[in-house]
Amino acid sequence: MTSRPFGVGLTLEDDRQALFILRHHRRFPPASHALVEQISERILILASAAREPMDDGLVFFHGREDSSFSAMATTPAFANLTLVRHPLVQHKMTLLRDRRTPTKIFKELVDEIAMLMAYEATSELSLDPVTVETPLEQATGFQVSGKKLTLVPILRAGLGMVEGILRLVPSARVGHVGLYRDHDTLEPVDYYFKVPSDAAERDFFLLDPMLATGGSAVSAVSSLKRAGGVRIRFLCLVAAPEGVRRLGKAHPDVPVYAAALDRELNSQGYILPGLGDAGDRLFGTR
Ligand code: URA
Repeated sequence: MTSRPFGVGLTLEDDRQALFILRHHRRFPPASHALVEQISERILILASAAREPMDDGLVFFHGREDSSFSAMATTPAFANLTLVRHPLVQHKMTLLRDRRTPTKIFKELVDEIAMLMAYEATSELSLDPVTVETPLEQATGFQVSGKKLTLVPILRAGLGMVEGILRLVPSARVGHVGLYRDHDTLEPVDYYFKVPSDAAERDFFLLDPMLATGGSAVSAVSSLKRAGGVRIRFLCLVAAPEGVRRLGKAHPDVPVYAAALDRELNSQGYILPGLGDAGDRLFGTR
């Protein structure tokens, strides 16, 4: 079976542009032309329509998302958000969303996407020049300056992002934040918090695959700041506009990196179209 076209993310200026895209993805069924005509100024993410079970027939429409084909993009509507649009990230995200993706593959995908996202999120770490002896002569190189990067997964789904990032930054330290939602107040309550004591001198990556209401994210950042953290980035796979806004309002100094900005939250606080309960899918507790 030949492999078919991958996912693409494009800003559609008008219907003609949408149809132009369709012409270049000939394998999309004629029926989709009418649908695409209805979605001017929307983002069309066309996932592979391969007949292989994992990739089959996935088509997501993300309303109001500002998109480009660069590896990373910021959007004026969400000044705190950077979307990681690398084609491999988008391809893997599509597999991750698929309800048929089994736990083992889901886990591997979260791990791989987290690693690719960390590659982008570390692009602004500062460097110090160092000299190194090659077998032939002395050369000038660079090393990441300062104390070791610290990963802080928000329990439990954030744990799924740790190993992939550690593969990229093996010397990173790992803290943990445990939060649960109080049934009466619906507010997140800290039940566990542990990070290195010299927090003020470190760069932190706070990890949670899903930025939904933003309640846990705001609370976790607040805890990290109380512990002395100042340079904090929030890495998630899927973000809801509500969560990005809430985190940006409470902590405008914290950049958010996401692989996708989805449409909205449902009444239970799940992200739509989303990927379901990330913790359950990671740990097979559905
Ligand atoms: N947490 C999840 O695991 N999934 C969502 O859609 C929202 C929050």
